[in-house]
Amino acid sequence: MATTERDYYEVLGVQRGASGAQIKRAFRALARELHPDVSSEPETEQRFREVAEAYEVLSDPERRATYDRLGHAGLRRGGYEPTFSHFGDLSDVFAAFFGEGLFADVPSQRRQARGGDVQALAEIDLGDAFTGISVAVPVEVALACERCAGSGSEPGTETRECTTCGGGGTVRRVSQNVFGQFVHQRPCPECGGAGSVVETPCGDCHGQGILLTSRQLEVDIPAGIHDGQRIRIRGEGHAGAHGERGNVFVVVRVRPDPRFVRDGNDLHTAHRLTMTEAALGTTAFVPTLSGDARLDVPPGTQPGEVRVLYGRGMPSLQGERKGDLYVRLDVAVPTTIDPEQRALLEEFAGRAGPETYAHGDEDEGFLSRLKSAFR
Ligand SMILES: [Zn+2]
Ligand SMILES: [Zn+2]
Repeated sequence: MATTERDYYEVLGVQRGASGAQIKRAFRALARELHPDVSSEPETEQRFREVAEAYEVLSDPERRATYDRLGHAGLRRGGYEPTFSHFGDLSDVFAAFFGEGLFADVPSQRRQARGGDVQALAEIDLGDAFTGISVAVPVEVALACERCAGSGSEPGTETRECTTCGGGGTVRRVSQNVFGQFVHQRPCPECGGAGSVVETPCGDCHGQGILLTSRQLEVDIPAGIHDGQRIRIRGEGHAGAHGERGNVFVVVRVRPDPRFVRDGNDLHTAHRLTMTEAALGTTAFVPTLSGDARLDVPPGTQPGEVRVLYGRGMPSLQGERKGDLYVRLDVAVPTTIDPEQRALLEEFAGRAGPETYAHGDEDEGFLSRLKSAFR
C-alpha cells in the first residue's frame, strides 16, 4: 500500500522537470535530515517513508512516466507497491535504501555498544550549595552478573553455538532496490551478536548476563551549583554490550531556603527594624549562609532601603566573583501601645515638625519611583 497521496515532486521539493541527478540529490539531503539517529521528531518515520516512496517512483523512468500521466491511481493500477512498505522498522527502510555505512559519520553503532545512561536525583539545601557537598546518591544500574561473569550460563555448563548465525554473531540479508543490490550485516537477533546460546541459564541473572544492581554513588556537588543543573559521572551507568559503561546524570535539586531569594549568584533577604531602631540607628544582625552578619543601621533609615553586603551571596561555579547579599530593610510601626507609650509618642509628635522627617532628595526619589510604577 502506498504511504502517501501527496505529489511526489512536492514531497522531494523538486520541479516537475527535475533531472535524475537533481532528484537523487534532493532525496539524499532529505534522508540525511530524517535519519533516525539525527532526528527524534515523531513524524520523522512517516515523512521518511513518503520521501523514500517518492524517490523510488521518480528515480525510475518508467514509473515516473506512469505517474506523470496517470498519477497515484495509475501507479496502483499498474501494481506498484513501495518495496519497503512491509518493513516494520524505519532502520530497515534505511538499510534497504543505503545499506550500512552511508551514515558512517553518525556513530550509531558505537552508541549501541556503550551501556545506557542513568538518571539520578540529588536534593540538597541552599546552604549545601553554598559550601559544596559530597552526597551519596542511590542509582540502579545494570551490571555484568558476577556469578556467570556476564556469560549468562550457569558456571560449569556449556553454551551451544547459535544456529541462526553459525556462531559468527552477525546475519546477512540481501536486498534489491533502486540503488542496486545491497548486503546488510546486522547483529544476530537470536544470540544478540554473541555467537553462542545459553543452554543452562545462570541462576542469578536467568541467562541475561546482567543484573540490575542498587548502588550508592558518592557525588561531589560543587559550591555554587544551581537548581536543576546536571552533573555527569562518566562510566558509572549501565554496562554495555562491549564493556563500555554508560554515564550517570545526576540532576541537582536545591531546596529553597525560607530566609533567602536566590537570583543567579546573588541572594536577597529582608530585615525588619523597629520604628525606634530606624529612627535612632542600631547594629543589626542579618542572616547569611555563613552565619549572621553585622549591619550598621544609621539613624534615619527609611523603610524599603536596600543595603548590599558585597561578596556574601553564593559562590560562583566558574570561580568568578562571589554574589552579593541584598538586605531590604523594613520598618515595623507599633500596633499595641499602652497609655504611657502613647503619651510619649504624642509628646514627640508635638515637638516634631516637617524638618524632623525631611530627608533631602529621598522624597523626590520616592515620588518618581511611584510615578514610574504607574506609567
Ligand atoms: Zn549470571
Ligand atoms: Zn546468533
